[in-house]
Amino acid sequence: MLVMKFGGSSVADAGRIRQVAELVSAAAGPSEPAAPIVVSSAMGGVTDRLFALARTALGGRDARADALERVAALQRHHDEALAGLEPARLVDDNTTRTARERFDRYFTELRDIVIGVSLLGELSPRSLDAITSYGEKLAVELVAAALRAGGTPAEAISAEEIVVTDDAFGNAAPDMAATTERAARLSDLARAGTVPVVTGYIGASPAGVTTTLGRNGSDYSAAIIGAAVGADEVWIWTDVDGVMSADPRLVAGARSLPALSYVEASELAYFGSKVIHPRTIVPAVTAGVPIRIKNTFNPTHPGTLIGADASGSGAVKGVTVIRDLALVTVEGLGMLGVPGIAARTLGAVATTGANVLMISQSSSESNIALVIARSEVAPALRALRDAFAPELRRHDVDAIGARDGMAIITIVGSGMRGTPGMAGRFFSVLGRAGINVSAIAQGSSEYSISCVIHDDGTGAGSGDSASSEHTVHDALRAVHHEFIETQ
Ligand code: ADP
Ligand code: ASP
Ligand code: MG
Repeated sequence: MLVMKFGGSSVADAGRIRQVAELVSAAAGPSEPAAPIVVSSAMGGVTDRLFALARTALGGRDARADALERVAALQRHHDEALAGLEPARLVDDNTTRTARERFDRYFTELRDIVIGVSLLGELSPRSLDAITSYGEKLAVELVAAALRAGGTPAEAISAEEIVVTDDAFGNAAPDMAATTERAARLSDLARAGTVPVVTGYIGASPAGVTTTLGRNGSDYSAAIIGAAVGADEVWIWTDVDGVMSADPRLVAGARSLPALSYVEASELAYFGSKVIHPRTIVPAVTAGVPIRIKNTFNPTHPGTLIGADASGSGAVKGVTVIRDLALVTVEGLGMLGVPGIAARTLGAVATTGANVLMISQSSSESNIALVIARSEVAPALRALRDAFAPELRRHDVDAIGARDGMAIITIVGSGMRGTPGMAGRFFSVLGRAGINVSAIAQGSSEYSISCVIHDDGTGAGSGDSASSEHTVHDALRAVHHEFIETQ
């Protein structure tokens, strides 16, 4: 069994969807043992448009018309893609009839939900999940129709019927046992010669309420389904030749990595390499399913194989960056030697739902620094000031503050373990590029080292005109050059 997941750029229009259908049909051929199960993202840009129209709907009566016009525009976009899938003579054939019927139903539901949000003036995480789930539900109809139009039996299936999750709307977690039971339907279909085309990104709670796994979650869906059916491999098809040593949009010399261990891939994903969703690795490791990242636009390229073994040369395999962060600090000489300060700091921030990307504590224990997204700073500061109110009054804690305009730059590679001097080299190359380092942390696995750098232009050594783009991208390029290009 082979799970083939296609990202938004791979299903962005009719031409690309036809290309996807060809790749799947080739794997589904009678001489192929693969029996593919397809997982699809929404058409490129559609999820963003759904989020935007959901927020528009909140704006009262005038905004309602605007939101509904946006729904109509999405309907035209999908109708156009459907019309582009097959020759005119087939238009009334079964290959697209099902899709057209489902489109009608989905757009009616979507309009009703949008009107509901607008009337109530309320957009709960649950409603937002309901609205944004339609991107994938529509896309699988297109992919299944394209397969049928090419002569491959296929059935579009909403993961609401397969992936059982908790009810953490916007960031749901799967119940693997329940999901495995329901996923048997997919293996049965695939073995019988019908390609199941399943929605990425979404699931449903045990009560049947639609949930989503979080932005970019279709990769995670593919791994969940791959683990649930005991797939031989999960192939994630995207628009680049696999996982690369850096984001190829930012570093011209970035190269494709033939192999990564699960840990390396998850560190790269966690620290900002957008190519796979960070949680993708979890079900794959548990079930021992290898993941391959492949390029829909260059299908003969082997891409990247992610598995239990880490092979390949060079201590550092990749460099990543995360931007729009803030460094939150809690400091005071009265904290010295007092147990539990770090735990209380993390606990207070956790109550706000903020994701702590990095934590570092000065050796004197008089300073703790946390890195979180800039958008999460205000509630985190409020929670910290509440939690440490007595210490602030006693001046055991002198200051709780935040500095935004920060970024984390990380080097990743299992070969760093036991290679001395990596952190020193990392510091020196940033120093030579004129970049200030505010904090440093090493992953406990020793597979990654991260530096917090200024992302506001002030850290650049190149004068007043330096923009933050330059600071961060220069840093990334300098580090990539040092550890990858000169290896
Ligand atoms: P999809 O729509 O297929 O899910 P994404 O846009 O989510 O695709 O991810 C692919 C993009 O991730 C690439 O186009 C690339 O610009 C970006 N990217 C960032 N870091 C990396 C990296 N280290 N290797 C490959 N791609 C990366
Ligand atoms: N369509 C969803 C998103 O844009 C999920 C995905 O593409 O992976 O976030
Ligand atoms: Mg993606």
